Amino acid sequence: VPCYYRGCDNQADTKEHVPPKAFFPKDQRDQLLTVPSCKSHNNSKTNDDTYVLTHICMNASPSNGAREIFSKKILPQLGYNDDAFRKMLLKGSEHYDNGTGRYHVDVERFDDFFTALSMGIVYKTCGGQLPNSYSIGHIYHNFQDDNENPEYKTLKGHIGSLYSGTPLHFLDFGQPDTRNEKIYTVKLFGVPGFCSSITVDHLFFGSFRVTSMLSKKWGAV
Ligand SMILES: [Zn+2]
Repeated sequence: VPCYYRGCDNQADTKEHVPPKAFFPKDQRDQLLTVPSCKSHNNSKTNDDTYVLTHICMNASPSNGAREIFSKKILPQLGYNDDAFRKMLLKGSEHYDNGTGRYHVDVERFDDFFTALSMGIVYKTCGGQLPNSYSIGHIYHNFQDDNENPEYKTLKGHIGSLYSGTPLHFLDFGQPDTRNEKIYTVKLFGVPGFCSSITVDHLFFGSFRVTSMLSKKWGAV
């Protein structure tokens, strides 16, 4: 069995959770989605997983689910390793005179995370690796970002309404059977058989939303 990660030729002798197991409390780990993975693509980024989960929880507040995960999974880690994790989180954060603050988000970590997650969801739905003929980009609806690219800003403004409803049936790519809807749901849009671009709409705790655009490159087979 090939590994789920695009372009990887290694034999998949483990299973990777999509999303990672770290996102689910021990008592809610039943029926999670898994894909075949080689050892190097399995749990290779446990630190990144926790980092991303932390920011998702902070941005999905005041959802009760997000608060529960934060207190069960994040708080116990804040004191570990000489506060290394806390420092990583606070790196680049700004504090204002009125007592509020703004956390800096390491977008590269987020991009790596959502690229791997999208590959896993596509693999789960289509039973194969995402072809190399696709480029991958992500839109983070809950972040104030500084991307001034006019095309990006237009997309971000409109994409919420474009993909919020039930897909037209010819655009319905299929849906992996996500069981833990309190924590994560996902929808795919596109034409089956890798015939078109694919949009993956991720939703955490019913409020933290990321749209992954898997765009078929022109002229690619
Ligand atoms: Zn691999």
